[in-house]
Amino acid sequence: MKPLVESSVEIEVLQPVEVDLLRETGGVSVEWFGRAGTALYRAYLIARLTAGANVGEAEVIIPSISCATPANAALLAGLVPRFADVEPATGMPTLDLIQERWTPQTCAVVFIHLYGQTADLSSLKEWCRVKNIVLIEDVAQALRARLPNGAAAGSGGDLSVYSFNRTKILECGGGALVIRSERLRSAHVVSLAKDPIAAGVDPEKAATLGLSYRNLHHALVGLRRSRSVEDISAPFLNLQPAFQELYLQPMKSASALGNVWPKLTEILQRRYAKAEQYEEVLADGPWQTIQGWKKSGVCWRYSLLFDAPEKLVALCESVRQDGFHVSNLYWPVNEFFRPSDLCPNANAFARQILNLWVDATVDRQWVHRCAKSLRKNADRITA
Ligand SMILES: *Cc1c(COP(=O)(O)O)cnc(C)c1O
Repeated sequence: MKPLVESSVEIEVLQPVEVDLLRETGGVSVEWFGRAGTALYRAYLIARLTAGANVGEAEVIIPSISCATPANAALLAGLVPRFADVEPATGMPTLDLIQERWTPQTCAVVFIHLYGQTADLSSLKEWCRVKNIVLIEDVAQALRARLPNGAAAGSGGDLSVYSFNRTKILECGGGALVIRSERLRSAHVVSLAKDPIAAGVDPEKAATLGLSYRNLHHALVGLRRSRSVEDISAPFLNLQPAFQELYLQPMKSASALGNVWPKLTEILQRRYAKAEQYEEVLADGPWQTIQGWKKSGVCWRYSLLFDAPEKLVALCESVRQDGFHVSNLYWPVNEFFRPSDLCPNANAFARQILNLWVDATVDRQWVHRCAKSLRKNADRITA
């Protein structure tokens, strides 16, 4: 079997990170990978194994507001992704919405702490326990966030996955899976023996494929946003095998993560301060602001839901023309993978969401000017 990280020296630099993650989550082990997508893949294999389910039959319930990685990793692991609708104000599913997608084949649920918001997982956790479903917490956008009960995000699920890749809170590269019971750790060992970690794709090919994937995604979202086509899932699913190897990557940047880890608290404080700055200018306006970062302590992107969905693209374009990044990430993933899992709230959410940067690429002045630009353009567009 190939080593999970390239050398034991490298593993040592991750020791303090492991100690922190295990303490915060009450986990029994941390497994290192090149990305959260690989950690999700391994988590699904564990869930399938513990459920005793056959390939192609077992199902995983994923929130409809997400990037496509959790669903793509599910396909790769031989699980059928099913999609839960979301609450209009947060973009995250409730227990009821998750239960609507339950079938006897359900072996896992992924809960994503979206944009740094968190949610009380206690009733979801209890339901999963009763149904023998593995609960996977996706902490990619909520590293070190607090749950409403004060515990750490990542401490509620049976498994939790982390991303340290570009656009996330630490951008040094890598991903992790925290396993929270000996039973699931044993299942992981069995699954690793059957299906070892892949060596990873050549970086140049990965870059080309990654760009191709983004372009494909944007092209299809544009067609749905303009309501020019009904179904994007057939062309999307047909092309997915071309991107498969991107999802399975070993950890390559252990020392980078080890080096940046001591700075995490400071990085989070800076992000939080920028979110507060947006809040000063944008607290009231033709939108609802997403507030979950205040309670969780972590802001991934400062986000708002614009009151005039039909004018969202025009608003984003005019703010970009003033020189600022804005994004409206995430189209309902059910539309790519399984349009018959209708998610009307996710559709409305995706047509209103606007995300603003709080990362190290922007400073306080930039944030202030960006907020002013948004305010001015929104007032003009909705006048
Ligand atoms: C980015 C992201 C992922 C995938 O992370 P990678 O490290 O790029 O695989 C998974 N889940 C969520 C919620 C993300 O934001």
